[in-house]
Amino acid sequence: MSRSYTIRTYGCQMNVHDSERMAGLLEAAGYTRAAPERADDADVVVFNTCAVRENADNRLYGNLGHLRPAKTSRPGMQIAVGGCLAQKDRAEIVRRAPWVDVVFGTHNVHALPVLLERARHNAAAQVEIAEALEVFPSTLPARRESVYAGWVSISVGCNNTCTFCIVPSLRGTERDRRPGDVLAEVRVLAADGVLEVTLLGQNVNSYGVEFGDRGAFAKLLRACGDVPGLERVRFTSPHPRDFTSDVIAAMAETPAVCPQLHMPLQSGSDDVLRRMRRSYRSQRYLAILDEVRESIPDAAITTDIIVGFPGETEDDFAATLDVVRRARFSSAFTFQYSPRPGTPAAALPDQLPKAVVQERYERLVALQEEISWAGNRAQEGRVVEVLVAAGEGRKDSETRRLSGRARDGRLVHFAPGGAAVRPGDVVEVEIGYGAPHHLVADGPLLSHRRTRAGDLHEAGTRPGGAPTGLGLPSFGAPAPTVAAAACGVEVS
Ligand code: SF4
Repeated sequence: MSRSYTIRTYGCQMNVHDSERMAGLLEAAGYTRAAPERADDADVVVFNTCAVRENADNRLYGNLGHLRPAKTSRPGMQIAVGGCLAQKDRAEIVRRAPWVDVVFGTHNVHALPVLLERARHNAAAQVEIAEALEVFPSTLPARRESVYAGWVSISVGCNNTCTFCIVPSLRGTERDRRPGDVLAEVRVLAADGVLEVTLLGQNVNSYGVEFGDRGAFAKLLRACGDVPGLERVRFTSPHPRDFTSDVIAAMAETPAVCPQLHMPLQSGSDDVLRRMRRSYRSQRYLAILDEVRESIPDAAITTDIIVGFPGETEDDFAATLDVVRRARFSSAFTFQYSPRPGTPAAALPDQLPKAVVQERYERLVALQEEISWAGNRAQEGRVVEVLVAAGEGRKDSETRRLSGRARDGRLVHFAPGGAAVRPGDVVEVEIGYGAPHHLVADGPLLSHRRTRAGDLHEAGTRPGGAPTGLGLPSFGAPAPTVAAAACGVEVS
Protein backbone atom coordinates (compact mmCIF):
# COMPACT_ATOMS: atom_id res chain seq x y z
CA MET A 1 0.00 0.00 0.00
CA SER A 2 1.29 3.44 -0.82
CA ARG A 3 2.18 5.77 1.98
CA SER A 4 -0.17 8.66 2.68
CA TYR A 5 0.77 12.30 3.18
CA THR A 6 -0.73 15.53 4.41
CA ILE A 7 0.62 19.06 4.06
CA ARG A 8 -0.08 21.85 6.53
CA THR A 9 0.44 25.20 4.87
CA TYR A 10 1.01 28.48 6.70
CA GLY A 11 1.47 31.99 5.35
CA CYS A 12 1.20 33.50 1.94
CA GLN A 13 0.28 32.44 -1.58
CA MET A 14 3.88 31.61 -2.38
CA ASN A 15 3.58 28.89 0.25
CA VAL A 16 0.21 27.74 -1.08
CA HIS A 17 1.81 27.51 -4.48
CA ASP A 18 4.83 25.62 -3.14
CA SER A 19 2.53 23.23 -1.27
CA GLU A 20 0.79 22.34 -4.51
CA ARG A 21 4.23 21.44 -5.87
CA MET A 22 5.14 19.42 -2.78
CA ALA A 23 1.87 17.49 -3.17
CA GLY A 24 2.58 16.93 -6.86
CA LEU A 25 6.10 15.71 -6.10
CA LEU A 26 4.92 13.31 -3.41
CA GLU A 27 2.20 11.91 -5.66
CA ALA A 28 4.70 11.49 -8.49
CA ALA A 29 6.83 9.52 -6.00
CA GLY A 30 3.91 7.21 -5.21
CA TYR A 31 2.44 8.78 -2.07
CA THR A 32 -1.31 9.32 -1.87
CA ARG A 33 -3.02 12.23 -0.17
CA ALA A 34 -4.63 11.34 3.14
CA ALA A 35 -8.34 12.06 3.19
CA PRO A 36 -8.92 15.30 5.14
CA GLU A 37 -10.67 13.42 7.96
CA ARG A 38 -7.68 11.02 8.19
CA ALA A 39 -4.98 13.71 7.94
CA ASP A 40 -3.85 13.06 11.52
CA ASP A 41 -3.08 9.45 10.60
CA ALA A 42 -0.97 10.28 7.54
CA ASP A 43 2.35 8.47 7.14
CA VAL A 44 4.10 11.69 6.20
CA VAL A 45 3.20 15.08 7.67
CA VAL A 46 4.76 18.09 5.94
CA PHE A 47 4.75 21.55 7.50
CA ASN A 48 5.17 24.35 4.97
CA THR A 49 6.01 27.15 7.36
CA CYS A 50 5.89 30.93 7.39
CA ALA A 51 8.37 33.14 9.22
CA VAL A 52 6.38 36.32 8.97
CA ARG A 53 3.58 35.82 11.42
CA GLU A 54 4.20 36.70 15.02
CA ASN A 55 5.17 33.72 17.14
CA ALA A 56 5.45 31.53 14.04
CA ASP A 57 8.25 29.55 15.63
CA ASN A 58 6.38 28.97 18.89
CA ARG A 59 3.44 27.73 16.90
CA LEU A 60 5.59 25.39 14.83
CA TYR A 61 7.31 23.86 17.85
CA GLY A 62 3.93 23.54 19.55
CA ASN A 63 2.55 21.67 16.54
CA LEU A 64 5.61 19.47 16.33
CA GLY A 65 5.22 18.70 20.03
CA HIS A 66 1.63 17.57 19.43
CA LEU A 67 2.86 15.10 16.84
CA ARG A 68 5.48 13.57 19.07
CA PRO A 69 3.23 10.87 20.61
CA ALA A 70 2.03 9.81 17.13
CA LYS A 71 5.61 9.64 15.96
CA THR A 72 6.56 7.44 18.91
CA SER A 73 3.63 5.08 18.52
CA ARG A 74 3.89 4.76 14.72
CA PRO A 75 7.55 4.07 13.89
CA GLY A 76 7.18 4.47 10.09
CA MET A 77 5.69 7.90 10.36
CA GLN A 78 7.77 10.82 9.08
CA ILE A 79 7.66 14.55 9.71
CA ALA A 80 9.13 17.10 7.30
CA VAL A 81 9.46 20.84 7.84
CA GLY A 82 9.90 23.18 4.87
CA GLY A 83 9.19 26.83 4.01
CA CYS A 84 10.54 30.09 5.33
CA LEU A 85 10.95 29.11 8.96
CA ALA A 86 12.93 26.04 7.90
CA GLN A 87 15.10 28.25 5.69
CA LYS A 88 15.69 30.49 8.70
CA ASP A 89 16.06 27.99 11.56
CA ARG A 90 17.69 25.11 9.67
CA ALA A 91 19.29 22.51 11.97
CA GLU A 92 17.87 24.33 14.97
CA ILE A 93 14.59 22.59 14.12
CA VAL A 94 15.98 19.09 14.68
CA ARG A 95 17.86 20.31 17.70
CA ARG A 96 14.62 21.52 19.30
CA ALA A 97 12.45 18.71 17.88
CA PRO A 98 14.72 15.70 17.32
CA TRP A 99 11.77 13.59 16.17
CA VAL A 100 11.61 15.60 12.92
CA ASP A 101 12.88 13.57 9.94
CA VAL A 102 13.46 16.15 7.24
CA VAL A 103 14.16 19.88 7.10
CA PHE A 104 14.25 21.48 3.66
CA GLY A 105 14.25 25.13 2.57
CA THR A 106 12.50 27.43 0.13
CA HIS A 107 15.13 26.88 -2.55
CA ASN A 108 15.07 23.07 -2.67
CA VAL A 109 11.41 22.08 -2.54
CA HIS A 110 12.15 19.50 -5.23
CA ALA A 111 14.34 17.54 -2.81
CA LEU A 112 11.47 16.57 -0.49
CA PRO A 113 10.82 12.98 -1.70
CA VAL A 114 14.52 12.17 -1.85
CA LEU A 115 15.13 13.53 1.64
CA LEU A 116 12.22 11.51 3.04
CA GLU A 117 13.61 8.40 1.43
CA ARG A 118 17.12 9.11 2.66
CA ALA A 119 15.89 9.76 6.20
CA ARG A 120 14.13 6.40 6.16
CA HIS A 121 17.08 4.56 4.70
CA ASN A 122 19.66 6.13 7.01
CA ALA A 123 17.31 6.26 10.00
CA ALA A 124 18.60 9.75 10.63
CA ALA A 125 17.25 13.26 10.23
CA GLN A 126 18.13 14.98 6.98
CA VAL A 127 18.64 18.75 6.98
CA GLU A 128 19.25 20.22 3.57
CA ILE A 129 18.99 23.94 2.92
CA ALA A 130 20.11 25.49 -0.36
CA GLU A 131 21.43 29.06 -0.43
CA ALA A 132 20.07 29.81 -3.89
CA LEU A 133 17.13 28.59 -5.91
CA GLU A 134 18.04 25.26 -7.45
CA VAL A 135 14.91 24.46 -9.41
CA PHE A 136 12.16 26.93 -10.19
CA PRO A 137 9.19 25.42 -8.35
CA SER A 138 7.07 25.78 -11.47
CA THR A 139 8.98 23.02 -13.19
CA LEU A 140 7.79 20.56 -10.59
CA PRO A 141 4.66 18.45 -10.77
CA ALA A 142 1.66 20.01 -9.08
CA ARG A 143 -1.48 18.86 -7.38
CA ARG A 144 -3.74 21.84 -7.89
CA GLU A 145 -6.55 22.42 -5.47
CA SER A 146 -9.01 24.16 -7.74
CA VAL A 147 -10.51 23.35 -11.14
CA TYR A 148 -11.60 26.89 -11.90
CA ALA A 149 -8.76 29.06 -10.59
CA GLY A 150 -5.01 28.68 -10.43
CA TRP A 151 -1.92 30.48 -9.26
CA VAL A 152 0.90 30.94 -11.73
CA SER A 153 4.21 32.07 -10.36
CA ILE A 154 6.04 34.59 -12.54
CA SER A 155 8.93 35.29 -10.19
CA VAL A 156 10.29 34.33 -6.83
CA GLY A 157 12.36 36.37 -4.39
CA CYS A 158 12.61 40.14 -4.12
CA ASN A 159 15.27 42.78 -4.84
CA ASN A 160 13.84 45.28 -2.36
CA THR A 161 14.95 45.66 1.22
CA CYS A 162 11.89 46.79 3.15
CA THR A 163 13.08 46.93 6.73
CA PHE A 164 10.10 45.03 8.20
CA CYS A 165 10.29 42.16 5.74
CA ILE A 166 12.08 38.86 6.06
CA VAL A 167 11.33 37.73 2.49
CA PRO A 168 14.55 38.89 0.80
CA SER A 169 16.71 36.99 3.27
CA LEU A 170 14.63 33.82 3.05
CA ARG A 171 13.50 33.78 -0.58
CA GLY A 172 16.57 35.42 -2.08
CA THR A 173 16.81 38.00 -4.84
CA GLU A 174 14.27 38.11 -7.62
CA ARG A 175 14.33 35.34 -10.18
CA ASP A 176 12.06 35.84 -13.17
CA ARG A 177 10.53 33.07 -15.10
CA ARG A 178 10.64 33.36 -18.89
CA PRO A 179 7.41 34.80 -20.35
CA GLY A 180 7.07 31.86 -22.75
CA ASP A 181 7.13 29.44 -19.82
CA VAL A 182 4.57 31.47 -17.87
CA LEU A 183 2.26 31.60 -20.88
CA ALA A 184 2.68 27.90 -21.59
CA GLU A 185 1.50 27.15 -18.06
CA VAL A 186 -1.42 29.57 -18.37
CA ARG A 187 -2.44 27.93 -21.65
CA VAL A 188 -2.29 24.45 -20.12
CA LEU A 189 -4.48 25.59 -17.23
CA ALA A 190 -7.01 27.26 -19.55
CA ALA A 191 -7.09 24.16 -21.75
CA ASP A 192 -7.83 22.18 -18.58
CA GLY A 193 -10.89 24.35 -17.94
CA VAL A 194 -9.40 26.88 -15.50
CA LEU A 195 -11.20 30.22 -15.91
CA GLU A 196 -9.15 32.43 -13.64
CA VAL A 197 -5.42 32.79 -13.21
CA THR A 198 -3.59 34.86 -10.62
CA LEU A 199 -0.04 35.81 -11.56
CA LEU A 200 2.12 35.62 -8.50
CA GLY A 201 5.33 37.36 -7.51
CA GLN A 202 6.66 39.33 -4.54
CA ASN A 203 6.90 42.37 -6.79
CA VAL A 204 5.19 41.73 -10.12
CA ASN A 205 6.02 45.22 -11.39
CA SER A 206 9.70 44.51 -11.48
CA TYR A 207 9.09 41.39 -13.55
CA GLY A 208 11.52 41.37 -16.45
CA VAL A 209 14.40 42.96 -14.54
CA GLU A 210 16.34 39.72 -14.76
CA PHE A 211 16.07 39.41 -18.53
CA GLY A 212 16.22 43.12 -19.27
CA ASP A 213 12.68 44.00 -20.31
CA ARG A 214 11.01 46.59 -18.08
CA GLY A 215 7.82 46.34 -20.12
CA ALA A 216 7.58 42.58 -19.60
CA PHE A 217 4.73 42.60 -17.08
CA ALA A 218 2.41 44.72 -19.21
CA LYS A 219 3.18 42.50 -22.20
CA LEU A 220 2.47 39.42 -20.11
CA LEU A 221 -0.93 40.77 -19.04
CA ARG A 222 -1.86 41.45 -22.66
CA ALA A 223 -0.64 38.02 -23.76
CA CYS A 224 -2.69 36.33 -21.01
CA GLY A 225 -5.70 38.19 -22.39
CA ASP A 226 -5.26 36.31 -25.66
CA VAL A 227 -5.28 32.84 -24.10
CA PRO A 228 -8.40 31.03 -25.33
CA GLY A 229 -10.82 30.15 -22.55
CA LEU A 230 -9.17 32.30 -19.89
CA GLU A 231 -11.79 34.72 -18.54
CA ARG A 232 -10.12 36.34 -15.57
CA VAL A 233 -6.57 37.44 -14.94
CA ARG A 234 -5.47 38.84 -11.60
CA PHE A 235 -2.06 39.52 -10.12
CA THR A 236 -0.41 40.04 -6.78
CA SER A 237 1.46 41.93 -5.56
CA PRO A 238 2.52 45.12 -7.29
CA HIS A 239 4.92 47.58 -5.74
CA PRO A 240 4.14 51.30 -6.02
CA ARG A 241 7.77 52.12 -6.76
CA ASP A 242 7.81 50.12 -9.97
CA PHE A 243 4.21 50.67 -11.05
CA THR A 244 4.20 52.10 -14.55
CA SER A 245 1.55 53.51 -16.88
CA ASP A 246 2.03 50.72 -19.39
CA VAL A 247 0.69 48.26 -16.81
CA ILE A 248 -2.38 50.43 -16.19
CA ALA A 249 -2.97 50.65 -19.95
CA ALA A 250 -2.62 46.87 -20.28
CA MET A 251 -5.10 46.37 -17.42
CA ALA A 252 -7.61 48.76 -18.97
CA GLU A 253 -7.26 47.44 -22.51
CA THR A 254 -7.27 43.71 -21.79
CA PRO A 255 -10.85 42.60 -21.07
CA ALA A 256 -9.76 39.45 -19.24
CA VAL A 257 -7.72 41.44 -16.71
CA CYS A 258 -10.03 42.02 -13.75
CA PRO A 259 -10.82 45.58 -12.57
CA GLN A 260 -9.01 45.05 -9.32
CA LEU A 261 -5.74 46.10 -7.79
CA HIS A 262 -4.16 45.06 -4.54
CA MET A 263 -1.40 47.59 -3.89
CA PRO A 264 0.32 47.68 -0.50
CA LEU A 265 0.48 51.16 1.04
CA GLN A 266 2.06 50.11 4.37
CA SER A 267 2.05 53.69 5.68
CA GLY A 268 0.74 57.09 4.60
CA SER A 269 3.60 58.90 6.31
CA ASP A 270 6.59 59.71 4.11
CA ASP A 271 8.88 59.60 7.13
CA VAL A 272 7.72 56.12 8.02
CA LEU A 273 7.95 54.99 4.40
CA ARG A 274 11.53 56.22 4.39
CA ARG A 275 12.34 54.24 7.52
CA MET A 276 10.58 51.23 6.04
CA ARG A 277 12.89 51.69 3.05
CA ARG A 278 9.90 51.87 0.72
CA SER A 279 11.01 54.30 -1.93
CA TYR A 280 7.68 55.80 -3.02
CA ARG A 281 5.93 58.60 -1.16
CA SER A 282 2.24 59.03 -0.37
CA GLN A 283 1.63 61.54 -3.20
CA ARG A 284 3.09 59.13 -5.71
CA TYR A 285 0.94 56.35 -4.32
CA LEU A 286 -2.23 58.41 -4.60
CA ALA A 287 -1.27 59.53 -8.12
CA ILE A 288 -1.11 55.89 -9.21
CA LEU A 289 -4.59 55.30 -7.80
CA ASP A 290 -5.91 58.35 -9.67
CA GLU A 291 -4.42 57.06 -12.88
CA VAL A 292 -5.89 53.58 -12.33
CA ARG A 293 -9.34 55.00 -11.61
CA GLU A 294 -9.21 57.27 -14.61
CA SER A 295 -8.55 54.30 -16.89
CA ILE A 296 -10.62 51.71 -14.97
CA PRO A 297 -13.38 53.66 -13.21
CA ASP A 298 -14.88 50.67 -11.36
CA ALA A 299 -11.59 49.24 -10.15
CA ALA A 300 -11.74 47.89 -6.60
CA ILE A 301 -8.47 48.78 -4.89
CA THR A 302 -7.27 46.98 -1.78
CA THR A 303 -4.16 47.41 0.28
CA ASP A 304 -1.97 46.34 3.21
CA ILE A 305 -1.20 48.76 6.04
CA ILE A 306 1.13 48.35 9.01
CA VAL A 307 0.25 50.32 12.13
CA GLY A 308 2.81 51.19 14.80
CA PHE A 309 6.07 50.90 12.88
CA PRO A 310 8.97 51.90 15.18
CA GLY A 311 9.01 55.65 15.72
CA GLU A 312 5.53 56.21 14.21
CA THR A 313 4.20 59.44 15.75
CA GLU A 314 0.60 60.50 16.07
CA ASP A 315 1.22 62.83 13.10
CA ASP A 316 2.59 59.92 11.06
CA PHE A 317 -0.49 57.90 11.88
CA ALA A 318 -2.75 60.84 11.01
CA ALA A 319 -1.04 60.89 7.59
CA THR A 320 -1.97 57.23 7.14
CA LEU A 321 -5.59 57.97 8.02
CA ASP A 322 -5.54 60.84 5.57
CA VAL A 323 -4.28 58.65 2.71
CA VAL A 324 -6.85 55.98 3.60
CA ARG A 325 -9.65 58.58 3.41
CA ARG A 326 -8.44 59.77 0.03
CA ALA A 327 -7.66 56.35 -1.42
CA ARG A 328 -11.15 54.91 -0.70
CA PHE A 329 -9.89 51.33 -0.59
CA SER A 330 -12.58 48.71 -1.04
CA SER A 331 -10.86 46.81 1.75
CA ALA A 332 -7.57 46.79 3.59
CA PHE A 333 -5.49 44.20 5.39
CA THR A 334 -4.32 45.96 8.49
CA PHE A 335 -1.49 44.72 10.66
CA GLN A 336 -0.10 45.75 13.99
CA TYR A 337 3.66 46.04 13.70
CA SER A 338 5.61 43.62 15.80
CA PRO A 339 9.33 43.02 15.44
CA ARG A 340 10.34 39.99 13.40
CA PRO A 341 13.73 38.60 14.31
CA GLY A 342 16.14 38.91 11.43
CA THR A 343 14.61 42.09 9.99
CA PRO A 344 16.36 45.49 10.23
CA ALA A 345 13.27 47.11 11.75
CA ALA A 346 13.42 44.75 14.72
CA ALA A 347 16.60 46.55 15.83
CA LEU A 348 15.23 50.08 15.38
CA PRO A 349 14.82 52.27 18.47
CA ASP A 350 11.43 53.63 19.48
CA GLN A 351 9.42 50.44 19.31
CA LEU A 352 5.91 51.52 20.31
CA PRO A 353 4.01 50.25 23.35
CA LYS A 354 1.39 47.66 22.47
CA ALA A 355 -1.43 49.84 23.86
CA VAL A 356 -0.55 52.70 21.51
CA VAL A 357 -0.43 50.36 18.49
CA GLN A 358 -3.73 48.76 19.48
CA GLU A 359 -5.52 52.08 19.86
CA ARG A 360 -4.31 53.33 16.48
CA TYR A 361 -5.12 50.03 14.87
CA GLU A 362 -8.71 50.23 16.11
CA ARG A 363 -9.09 53.75 14.74
CA LEU A 364 -7.75 52.65 11.37
CA VAL A 365 -10.01 49.60 11.22
CA ALA A 366 -13.06 51.70 12.12
CA LEU A 367 -12.29 54.19 9.37
CA GLN A 368 -11.66 51.53 6.77
CA GLU A 369 -14.85 49.65 7.74
CA GLU A 370 -16.84 52.81 7.12
CA ILE A 371 -15.22 53.26 3.72
CA SER A 372 -15.58 49.58 2.77
CA TRP A 373 -19.21 49.55 3.75
CA ALA A 374 -19.98 52.72 1.78
CA GLY A 375 -18.24 51.17 -1.23
CA ASN A 376 -20.25 47.98 -0.91
CA ARG A 377 -23.53 49.86 -0.46
CA ALA A 378 -22.76 51.66 -3.71
CA GLN A 379 -22.87 48.24 -5.40
CA GLU A 380 -26.56 47.77 -4.52
CA GLY A 381 -28.63 47.48 -7.68
CA ARG A 382 -25.64 46.59 -9.83
CA VAL A 383 -25.51 43.42 -11.91
CA VAL A 384 -22.28 41.52 -11.33
CA GLU A 385 -20.76 38.40 -12.78
CA VAL A 386 -19.74 35.84 -10.14
CA LEU A 387 -17.36 32.94 -10.57
CA VAL A 388 -18.82 30.45 -8.13
CA ALA A 389 -16.29 29.17 -5.62
CA ALA A 390 -16.05 26.35 -3.14
CA GLY A 391 -15.44 27.21 0.49
CA GLU A 392 -15.88 30.99 0.28
CA GLY A 393 -19.08 31.23 2.29
CA ARG A 394 -18.84 29.82 5.77
CA LYS A 395 -22.56 30.17 6.41
CA ASP A 396 -23.74 29.03 2.99
CA SER A 397 -25.36 25.84 4.18
CA GLU A 398 -27.31 27.77 6.84
CA THR A 399 -28.37 30.54 4.48
CA ARG A 400 -28.86 28.29 1.44
CA ARG A 401 -26.66 30.61 -0.56
CA LEU A 402 -23.62 30.01 -2.71
CA SER A 403 -20.59 32.28 -2.87
CA GLY A 404 -18.00 33.50 -5.28
CA ARG A 405 -16.08 36.52 -6.43
CA ALA A 406 -17.23 39.34 -8.67
CA ARG A 407 -14.80 40.42 -11.35
CA ASP A 408 -13.55 43.19 -9.08
CA GLY A 409 -12.74 40.67 -6.37
CA ARG A 410 -15.65 41.44 -4.04
CA LEU A 411 -17.12 38.45 -2.23
CA VAL A 412 -20.74 37.81 -3.24
CA HIS A 413 -23.19 35.50 -1.48
CA PHE A 414 -26.17 34.71 -3.70
CA ALA A 415 -29.30 32.57 -3.69
CA PRO A 416 -29.16 29.97 -6.47
CA GLY A 417 -32.91 29.32 -6.25
CA GLY A 418 -33.61 25.93 -7.78
CA ALA A 419 -30.68 26.09 -10.23
CA ALA A 420 -27.99 23.39 -10.01
CA VAL A 421 -25.08 25.82 -9.77
CA ARG A 422 -21.65 24.28 -9.18
CA PRO A 423 -18.31 25.77 -8.10
CA GLY A 424 -16.65 26.78 -11.36
CA ASP A 425 -19.90 27.94 -12.99
CA VAL A 426 -20.49 31.59 -13.80
CA VAL A 427 -23.66 33.44 -12.81
CA GLU A 428 -24.96 36.98 -13.04
CA VAL A 429 -26.85 38.44 -10.11
CA GLU A 430 -28.17 41.79 -8.99
CA ILE A 431 -26.72 43.01 -5.71
CA GLY A 432 -29.46 43.58 -3.16
CA TYR A 433 -27.40 44.48 -0.14
CA GLY A 434 -23.89 45.68 0.50
CA ALA A 435 -22.52 44.59 3.90
CA PRO A 436 -19.16 45.82 5.21
CA HIS A 437 -17.25 42.76 4.00
CA HIS A 438 -19.43 41.16 1.34
CA LEU A 439 -22.34 41.60 -1.03
CA VAL A 440 -25.64 39.74 -0.93
CA ALA A 441 -27.84 38.90 -3.92
CA ASP A 442 -31.02 37.09 -2.91
CA GLY A 443 -32.99 37.87 -6.08
CA PRO A 444 -33.39 35.50 -9.02
CA LEU A 445 -30.32 34.45 -11.01
CA LEU A 446 -30.10 36.65 -14.09
CA SER A 447 -27.98 34.08 -15.91
CA HIS A 448 -26.21 30.82 -15.21
CA ARG A 449 -23.43 29.49 -17.42
CA ARG A 450 -22.46 25.89 -16.84
CA THR A 451 -18.74 25.59 -17.47
CA ARG A 452 -16.25 22.85 -18.00
CA ALA A 453 -14.70 23.81 -14.68
CA GLY A 454 -18.10 23.20 -13.08
CA ASP A 455 -18.32 19.78 -14.77
CA LEU A 456 -14.84 18.90 -13.54
CA HIS A 457 -15.60 20.08 -10.03
CA GLU A 458 -18.75 17.97 -10.00
CA ALA A 459 -16.72 15.00 -11.20
CA GLY A 460 -14.08 15.60 -8.52
CA THR A 461 -11.31 16.08 -11.10
CA ARG A 462 -8.30 18.34 -10.61
CA PRO A 463 -6.46 20.12 -13.43
CA GLY A 464 -2.90 19.92 -14.65
CA GLY A 465 -0.89 17.66 -12.37
CA ALA A 466 2.10 17.64 -14.64
CA PRO A 467 4.65 20.41 -14.96
CA THR A 468 4.63 22.40 -18.19
CA GLY A 469 8.03 20.91 -18.86
CA LEU A 470 9.51 24.15 -20.03
CA GLY A 471 12.29 24.67 -17.69
CA LEU A 472 10.66 26.29 -14.98
CA PRO A 473 5.26 26.77 -11.66
CA SER A 474 -3.61 28.57 -5.59
CA PHE A 475 -5.61 30.44 -3.09
CA GLY A 476 -6.26 26.57 -3.49
CA ALA A 477 -9.29 28.17 -4.88
CA PRO A 478 -7.80 31.60 -5.15
CA ALA A 479 -9.99 34.11 -3.43
CA PRO A 480 -8.49 36.96 -5.37
CA THR A 481 -7.62 39.69 -2.99
CA VAL A 482 -8.46 38.29 0.36
CA ALA A 483 -6.03 35.45 0.43
CA ALA A 484 -3.64 37.55 -1.59
CA ALA A 485 -2.78 39.45 1.51
CA ALA A 486 -3.23 36.65 3.95
CA CYS A 487 0.05 37.44 5.57
CA GLY A 488 0.22 40.94 4.28
CA VAL A 489 3.60 42.14 5.26
CA GLU A 490 5.57 39.61 3.36
CA VAL A 491 3.94 40.16 0.03
CA SER A 492 5.05 43.46 -1.38
S1 SF4 B 1 7.68 43.86 1.56
FE1 SF4 B 1 7.53 43.11 -0.54
S2 SF4 B 1 8.84 44.57 -1.71
FE2 SF4 B 1 9.41 44.80 0.43
S3 SF4 B 1 11.15 43.40 0.70
FE3 SF4 B 1 9.27 42.28 1.31
S4 SF4 B 1 8.65 41.16 -0.52
FE4 SF4 B 1 10.12 42.75 -1.17
